[in-house]
Amino acid sequence: MQQSDVLTPERTRTASPFDTPKTKHDASGSAARVIPIVPLSHSEAEVARQMQICNACRYCEGFCAVFPAMARRLEFGKADVNYLANLCHNCGACYHACQYAPPHEFAVNVPKAMAQVRLETYTEYAFPAALGALYKRNGLTLSVALATGLALFLMLGLALRSGLSAHATSANFYAIFPHNLLAAMFGTVFLFAMLALGVGVTRFWRDVAAGTSSVSMPAAAEAAKHALTLKYLDGGHGDGCNESDDAFTLARRRFHHLTFYGFLLCFAATAVATLYHYAFGWEAPYPYLSVPVLLGTVGGIGLLVGPAGLWWLNLRRDPERTDVRQRPMDRGFIALLLLTSVSGLALLAFRATPAMPSLLATHLGIVMALFATLPYGKFAHGIFRSAALLKSSIEKRQGRSLGLGSE
Ligand code: SF4
Ligand code: SF4
Repeated sequence: MQQSDVLTPERTRTASPFDTPKTKHDASGSAARVIPIVPLSHSEAEVARQMQICNACRYCEGFCAVFPAMARRLEFGKADVNYLANLCHNCGACYHACQYAPPHEFAVNVPKAMAQVRLETYTEYAFPAALGALYKRNGLTLSVALATGLALFLMLGLALRSGLSAHATSANFYAIFPHNLLAAMFGTVFLFAMLALGVGVTRFWRDVAAGTSSVSMPAAAEAAKHALTLKYLDGGHGDGCNESDDAFTLARRRFHHLTFYGFLLCFAATAVATLYHYAFGWEAPYPYLSVPVLLGTVGGIGLLVGPAGLWWLNLRRDPERTDVRQRPMDRGFIALLLLTSVSGLALLAFRATPAMPSLLATHLGIVMALFATLPYGKFAHGIFRSAALLKSSIEKRQGRSLGLGSE
């Protein structure tokens, strides 16, 4: 197949049930289904080329959701490629199994090609796009600089107001930063993050969901299960991913789970503390064995071990299988998660000492930087991936009803 076949802007062909159909009439008046094809970027054209080869081979059909989704298509337009790229979990199984991988002349390297497209989608769908582009280029530097800047700003404000050790030994955080001030600061950043994420995923869904039937409960439940269990990090056989070599490991799945559920527990700790404050009038500090402190401690440990493991794996990952341009984003997000847990646990340990106000300002600055950058880093990619899993679950059922079979 010639690459020009893939890049032709618009032409007539046999449509797949998953295409967005448009009807045109030729000179004789007969109807033909025309698929408008948006010109592909170089990375997208490379995924389309490799998918044509894989579609003829299909050796990796049982590895993950990408290959069954690929098999439902005859050609790969921009929306198909973006969808498949975000469905790929970069587990590496297909690269290590592939008889057409480099040095073969077909040069099939699906994880790398998908990673290159994913990086483009992060900027393309980001809101505002300029922030997405900045984070893509300088994710690590931007994350650390933002966290440091916000922490210093809060410390300066504190020093000017009452000094860095005032009210220190009472372990009362709200004597340092009033609760309403914290709620206003974090509420603003949180709403911005939710808005930016919402716009990004809406843009993504609008592009990739064309031709997909509406969401059903079984499809939504299956997609949620696959997202929450990270099913496709099991390599398709349950033994896990390939990281630096042919050996399988479940380490990436485990570290992702520790990170994700650690993050959720920390979020739950904040939610319970807010409930205590507003609904019951119970003011912090809470005892070590109280619900918010226990949730925060267990979550903080998960958020320490998980990101530390992900950083270690990121350093070891075979560069041939990934897009190395993605590293600043990956490491920026992991660094902020690590700094959040380290500063949070340090704050808990030293909350009744003169170091508390400085530790509190540092922790708050880091958490604000984390929330402000959520829409541009790996967190956004988790949201896009969940949307892609939902489309996959819908398509699977749609394929069955059309008698096309399924995985
Ligand atoms: S990755 Fe290689 S082995 Fe797997 S389906 Fe594609 S061409 Fe075949
Ligand atoms: S790298 Fe893993 S998740 Fe991605 S296409 Fe290959 S087998 Fe599927």
